[in-house]
Amino acid sequence: MINILDLSIEELKEKLEQLNIKPFRAKQIYDACFQYKDYDEVSNISKAEKEILKQNFNLLPVSIYKVQESKDGTIKFALKCNDNSIIESVLMSYKYGYTICVSTQVGCRMGCSFCASTRNGLIRNLLASEIIGQILCVNKYLSNSTNERKITNVVLMGCGEPLDNYENLTCFLNLVTNKDYIAISERNISISTCGIVPNIKKLADDGYKINLTISLHAPNDEIRKQLMKVANAYSIKEILDACDYYFEKTHRRVYFEYTMCKGVNDSEDNAKELAKLLKGRVAHVNIIALNAVKEANLETVNKKDAYKFCEILTSAGLSASVRRTLGADIDGACGQLRNKILDETGNK
Ligand code: SF4
Repeated sequence: MINILDLSIEELKEKLEQLNIKPFRAKQIYDACFQYKDYDEVSNISKAEKEILKQNFNLLPVSIYKVQESKDGTIKFALKCNDNSIIESVLMSYKYGYTICVSTQVGCRMGCSFCASTRNGLIRNLLASEIIGQILCVNKYLSNSTNERKITNVVLMGCGEPLDNYENLTCFLNLVTNKDYIAISERNISISTCGIVPNIKKLADDGYKINLTISLHAPNDEIRKQLMKVANAYSIKEILDACDYYFEKTHRRVYFEYTMCKGVNDSEDNAKELAKLLKGRVAHVNIIALNAVKEANLETVNKKDAYKFCEILTSAGLSASVRRTLGADIDGACGQLRNKILDETGNK
């Protein structure tokens, strides 16, 4: 069955005409989806039409399966798709409002050694409706009023590699920035990629101006290959060239994530090499002490070492900071998200 938000309004009108439903209903149906309303909450469509619609379309692409709250206030949502896949989204509260971290795939095929999301490989791409559905569903959880927008910022940093699901990603971006609906500004949307070079360039060529974050995690290709399989496909030089291209086209500062793993990429020499690599760029480095993933044979560093590493970068003139870890006690921190599949009886 089709999720409504995977159709454009024009496509929906065509489908409605085929079902002998007046095309002006398309706007009402679209409004209901963006307000995260299911059929029983929609009052402006007749019962007979609802019955026809129900047999052909889902209004809600995801629903809440489980909610876990961290000591620090971060909330992790396990959300159920209509095929029983379970995906995870994480909600973080800041002074300026709420930021949601959404998933873009069920699983991931990129195989980064420090990440829980990739343990079972890629199961499937999420549809655009399922990506925006995470925001609409959690927004409704936060607010009784379906018209109130509590979520102000979106980060595409959950389960999956967004640039490995390009078509659905861009459909999602068109939906989430649509001025008639939830209208989140491109400035408030960030994408994190392990460095799929052709699609970084394509994103810029296609005119998107969202914030770009590169999961770099190493100052050279040799170390990067130990941590990330994708380093065998694209060198750091190719990635940095793509970042320069993205900056030229979008004028958006590029962010680099650097997860520190003890004995792998955490030495003073590594920091100096990283500083040299990124010197002169309009960039910011986020340093993250590795979050524990039970299958990964990697150790984290202590806070002191992370701050020392950061200081070497800032002393060399780079913009850098150590990122506060949120939601680690509920496995909701960076690299800890997973997917699950329920069978027909609801068992994992
Ligand atoms: S870090 Fe991102 S790209 Fe790498 S395996 Fe995890 S989800 Fe995939």
